[in-house]
Amino acid sequence: MILETSIEFLKNIGTERAKLIKNVLGISTVEDLLTFYPLRYIDKSKIYKVGDLTKEPESDVQFKGKITDLQEVVYEKGKRLSAKFRDETGTMDLVWFRYTNWMKEAIPLNKELFIFGKVNLFNSYFSMPHPEIEADEKKALSGTLLPIYPGSEKLTKRGITNKLFQTAIFNLLRDLPNLISENLPDYLLKSMKLMDRLNAYYNIHFPKDLKHYDEANRRLKFEEAFFFQLGYGLKKLHQKTKSFGNPFPIVGDYFNHFYENHLPFELTNAQKRVLKEIRTDMKRSTQMNRLLQGDVGSGKTMVALLTMLIAMDNGFQSCLMAPTEILAQQHFNSIQELLENTDIKVRLLTGSSKTRERRIIHEQLENGELSILIGTHALLEDKVKFQNLGLAIIDEQHRFGVAQRAKLWAKNNIPPHILVMTATPIPRTLAMSFYSDLDVSVIDELPVGRKPIITAHRREKDRLSVYNFCREEIEKGRQIYFVYPLIEESETLDYKNLMEGLDHVMNFFKSYNVTMVHGRMKPAEKDANMQYFASGEAKIMVATTVIEVGVNVPNASVMVIESAERFGLSQLHQLRGRVGRGAEQSYCILMTDEKLSKESRTRIKTMVQTNDGFKISEVDMELRGPGDILGTQQSGVIDFKKLNLIEDSAIIKASKLTVEKILEQDSLLNHPHNQIIKQYYIKQYKGKNKWSQIS
Ligand code: ADP
Ligand code: MG
Repeated sequence: MILETSIEFLKNIGTERAKLIKNVLGISTVEDLLTFYPLRYIDKSKIYKVGDLTKEPESDVQFKGKITDLQEVVYEKGKRLSAKFRDETGTMDLVWFRYTNWMKEAIPLNKELFIFGKVNLFNSYFSMPHPEIEADEKKALSGTLLPIYPGSEKLTKRGITNKLFQTAIFNLLRDLPNLISENLPDYLLKSMKLMDRLNAYYNIHFPKDLKHYDEANRRLKFEEAFFFQLGYGLKKLHQKTKSFGNPFPIVGDYFNHFYENHLPFELTNAQKRVLKEIRTDMKRSTQMNRLLQGDVGSGKTMVALLTMLIAMDNGFQSCLMAPTEILAQQHFNSIQELLENTDIKVRLLTGSSKTRERRIIHEQLENGELSILIGTHALLEDKVKFQNLGLAIIDEQHRFGVAQRAKLWAKNNIPPHILVMTATPIPRTLAMSFYSDLDVSVIDELPVGRKPIITAHRREKDRLSVYNFCREEIEKGRQIYFVYPLIEESETLDYKNLMEGLDHVMNFFKSYNVTMVHGRMKPAEKDANMQYFASGEAKIMVATTVIEVGVNVPNASVMVIESAERFGLSQLHQLRGRVGRGAEQSYCILMTDEKLSKESRTRIKTMVQTNDGFKISEVDMELRGPGDILGTQQSGVIDFKKLNLIEDSAIIKASKLTVEKILEQDSLLNHPHNQIIKQYYIKQYKGKNKWSQIS
């Protein structure tokens, strides 16, 4: 009960301050306050050695040594002061960005003293900005580890200081130790070597030393990961027992005939492995729910087709749903081409399908004549009824919500097997934890013979040489994309940029055909222009991100992305995936402004350095946080306080294994020694997650 009371009743806080704290930091209850973890600590209890540093310390720390080589560095926009600090084990940099002449002269050189502050690591070199300097050893070594809470200037100005948080939390822990009750059973604490919960709260706020801090930190992270995994584990159990599926026991003529006579290339080992995983799922009489991750160009379409052939062999229909008309059309074209010399019929249904075509589709779906239907979300309409839908494949997961997935389920009495394909690789740890309701298959290998795309960063001043390079490529027979950002808030402005870009390009490349696609065009016009480019008649395509997914013109070898700093990482990666699809060396040129924010610079640098979609998604997640990556609708579920989905993959794995083991033996958590988990879980998660029923 006390945990849920407002902090306004705590000493020194009161109504006014409570309101402000809530607005700025989102803290309203005692429990919120206890889980308001320090950002870092001040450690004046010991003296560190420069040579012992291997990473940035968690707290501000202290060194003993000498300051030397003080100098003022003047540059375009200002000046800074820099110096070296040496102890008997090593050297690091000291820097001051703000200082007065008086300060500069007061810095004692070549004298034994103490410096204190935050250590930064950059390019494997350590530095300390604005160190505190102290000559008196007694003063230097006073104090223990003290918490620094993430606050804001706004709060400090109104008297809500770090000290206030320190005291309030300290008092709570001292006066009401019973507030923090254990939520993990003894046997787990022992086997996982975890600190008990009360101790962990103490040591996360007021660590006895760094070792205690580490243990507290590990305990709290484990706890978060554990209950998260438990939620998913329970949900999955629930789902497995509930959702029957149609077993597909055989692989028959459709599959075998195609595989032996019409497969245009040898499957990669990854494609084979993934197919086997899918096949094993579909053999069972439970519904398949599988996520197929594969970087752009890894060959997901072929896996989709072969899976649909298995459905046919078992007498079932399949559908493939794509998020855009262009993409649906592309899938349709490539699948139709692959099936050219077979008697298997495929049809396409989108928002712009003609009435007559729709009627045929509806009819053939219901009488079972049509086995494979490809389309956009037009497939979800109630009018679209299947005779026996056995498999639904969804491409590009991110654009479809969970609700839409559910709509597909309902298209058959026994829900169809579901295969979700995504080219936006989600970091492995995130996929593993977040999608524990889906099984994950990964195509982690590209078809042989692909040359990695060469990516370069260029600025406005290089434009002429970029254009000249493009011309050379066209003369070699290649084709070029120019992509412009189109972001909704400033659509009109972007549109203007696009048109100016088109002008520019047409002016420079006078002797070549240029075409364009953008979101404001009618589908028919878009298709015609795409076709003009795909056929090779147009050498240059000027486009917005509508070409982001799925477009496949193997002869296009250069992608120029304009204002690349305005694109997100996964978007850049998707766009880049439009080239590098043929045998030729391909290039991606990222054009940006002269000045870039730190984040933009990281994005561009990452793109230049790697083609690996998984690495890119990890950087992306560090920059944006997992919530943004998964979409707002899902972000609340993974709102972790301590857990970091990238750094803590070992803890996540351990918690997942632990949960699996517990649920295997005691799926309803009825065993007495699991009561403590069950009670906490019910109390904590009831209402927050609709799947939380333990029946
Ligand atoms: P994505 O995974 O991005 O959807 P696609 O299925 O569009 O990739 O495949 C990209 C290209 O690679 C296509 O032209 C396809 O025909 C080709 N491809 C797929 N699998 C193989 C393979 N095993 N060997 C050679 N080429 C392949
Ligand atoms: Mg694809």
